[in-house]
Amino acid sequence: AAAVSVRSEITYVMIKPDGVQRGLVGEIISRFEKKGFKLVQLKMMKVTKEVAEEHYKDLKDKPFFPDLIGYILSGPVVGMVWEGQGVVWEGQGVVKAARKIIGATNPLEAEPGTIRGDLAVQTGRNVVHGSDSPENGERETALWFSGHGIVEWEAHMKPWLV
Ligand code: ADP
Ligand code: MG
Repeated sequence: AAAVSVRSEITYVMIKPDGVQRGLVGEIISRFEKKGFKLVQLKMMKVTKEVAEEHYKDLKDKPFFPDLIGYILSGPVVGMVWEGQGVVWEGQGVVKAARKIIGATNPLEAEPGTIRGDLAVQTGRNVVHGSDSPENGERETALWFSGHGIVEWEAHMKPWLV
């Protein structure tokens, strides 16, 4: 594989209302920090129906869509943006790595060691969201942080890939 990008990939991660209610904010943030991702946005938010529906627009025809929106609106969420460190190799960016840490959508199928595998039981209460593509990482960041962008800073840590 060849080294590709200078501008690091970003992913939008959100601690859903059950994760906030259960006091898992620190635990979840800690897992991404320990992996070596760089935190470049963070906000506690009350979600609006408009933003929730826009975020999940690709699922609007699914039978569970109304329940999903009700779930996301059920309490405050913590939205954040994580950036990859150092050289990003094709197919091994922060989006894919974050999805691995989060685990399968259904917590009963998520491996132990993943957030959902360790901390959740139900698909409809799976504690955390992570973007599924670099394009959606950009799209969701723009949606939830409405043009505020990301914070540029130097993390002075070893890149995960050299
Ligand atoms: P992921 O969050 O792993 O990317 P999807 O994008 O497929 O999963 O679905 C978005 C969210 O919708 C899931 O995280 C979960 O909260 C909810 N969801 C997905 N499938 C179901 C289902 N069959 N029943 C209830 N909720 C679901
Ligand atoms: Mg998804």
